[in-house]
Amino acid sequence: MRFQSFLIKYGEIGIKGKNRYLFEDALMRQIRFALRDVEGTFKVSKAQGRIYVDWEGDYDYDEAIECLQRVFGIVGICPVIHVEDKGFEELKKEVVSYMDRMYPDKKITFKVESRRGKKSYPKRSMEINCDLGEAILNAFPEIRVDVHKPDVLLNIEVRDEIYIYSEIIPGPGGMPVGTNGKAMLLLSGGIDSPVAGYMVSKRGVGLEATYFHAPPYTSERAKQKVIDLAKLVSRYSGPIKLHVVNFTDIQLYIYDKCPHDELTIIMRRYMMRIAEHFARENDCLGLITGESIGQVASQTMQSLAATNDVCTMPVYRPLIGFDKQEIVEVSEKIDTYETSILPFEDCCTIFVAKHPVTKPNIGKIRKSEERLSEKIDELMKEAIETTEVIVVK
Ligand code: ATP
Ligand code: MG
Repeated sequence: MRFQSFLIKYGEIGIKGKNRYLFEDALMRQIRFALRDVEGTFKVSKAQGRIYVDWEGDYDYDEAIECLQRVFGIVGICPVIHVEDKGFEELKKEVVSYMDRMYPDKKITFKVESRRGKKSYPKRSMEINCDLGEAILNAFPEIRVDVHKPDVLLNIEVRDEIYIYSEIIPGPGGMPVGTNGKAMLLLSGGIDSPVAGYMVSKRGVGLEATYFHAPPYTSERAKQKVIDLAKLVSRYSGPIKLHVVNFTDIQLYIYDKCPHDELTIIMRRYMMRIAEHFARENDCLGLITGESIGQVASQTMQSLAATNDVCTMPVYRPLIGFDKQEIVEVSEKIDTYETSILPFEDCCTIFVAKHPVTKPNIGKIRKSEERLSEKIDELMKEAIETTEVIVVK
């Protein structure tokens, strides 16, 4: 069957008044962006408090659905067929034929629900429901009506043309990106941080990202992997401005001056400081990490407190209560898993101690950092100034 449009269902409660327009406009913008590479010509419009995507001529149905399923804010996608208004008898035939093609097996229950958008239409909604229901019952002896819990809810919308739909393909839910500001994701090549970015973005937050690498200890391929991950996340979040920071000199300096069991924590504190610098510079309202309590030594409650100690912006950790397996499931769902597990070195794993502290004392960590006072400001400045910016989309 050829569907001429999609009715987009969105359902966040609490989008009232002015917020409703912001939500709808952002949703329409994100839909246009998501569909930009799909073959075919489409128009996104809003009518009577509903959003439609209308297609002209041929288009790739499966690809269009796949793209729409990545637009946050969409709860359901209903493929719609349009029929010309050639009188009620013709409509009956169209509806019977629609039911026949959509549901080859007629051992189902149904209910007709019509909306009269065009008030000049000669029949009222109740009448349309009854008369179309009757036509369907007459055409298919096995089919039954169930007004409470029908298998198929057949929707009829009378507009200039008549719209028929009954299928709802689930969307990702959430809120349209751009309705809740922007945040800075600390993006590594691992499994967790892309998932963390996805989850915050799902609530309507645009993303930028910061990646720390340590050439020549980490390779060009490790960097490319992070760019690829950013690209995969951007299919949901929209374009991501990725800041690639050369962290080598800072890491070597920390390695040289600080107790080795504290390396990871101190390194993480400098990452947060630098990421926060770029966050401020780019109007981000918070930082995002892929940390989860107790996953590794640097993510115990004490370690998280020590890392958090240097941040003045809120740090969002959407995976904080997730087990690894739960994170893996999301990464598989959003298609980042296969890329995340490619075996390239990460800067964190190169300079780690054999026995890192698991319960760091913040006072002691601050004291250790004093040993860096001579050169660290200069190294931070240089790292910031030499950062490469890549816009990923
Ligand atoms: P991930 O799977 O996201 O790499 P992880 O389990 O390896 O996480 P850590 O290495 O302790 O955990 O990192 C915790 C968080 O710190 C990451 O989720 C990420 O947000 C950030 N992070 C770690 N390494 C880097 C890096 N090289 N560049 C940017 N952010 C990083
Ligand atoms: Mg990591």
